Amino acid sequence: MSYLISKTAAETTCPRCRRQTLSAIEEGIPCRVDRAPLTTPAAEITALLDGRHTFVLTPRGYLIHRDAGRIAGNTIPGTIHAEHQCTTKAHQLTIDEMIGQAK
Ligand SMILES: [Zn+2]
Repeated sequence: MSYLISKTAAETTCPRCRRQTLSAIEEGIPCRVDRAPLTTPAAEITALLDGRHTFVLTPRGYLIHRDAGRIAGNTIPGTIHAEHQCTTKAHQLTIDEMIGQAK
């Protein structure tokens, strides 16, 4: 029998946009969410419509994915957070930038 690991969330900073995030491993899958919680059902619906998964941060520090059943049941205590969606695009360095000769 095998088990998928879960690790508690740690406060992190997105390396691209520098926003505050929470990173964890939930049932074997790495996840990163915005640190600011969603405070209304409408905010969670908006996040879901944007294609972002939502998670509940439990009092013990675990991020648990909110699938349709968990959203409908809403029985897991904690704050709800949306998956982090970075708005900053990766920048491909040019050769000139790499050698410090960018104009
Ligand atoms: Zn980001």
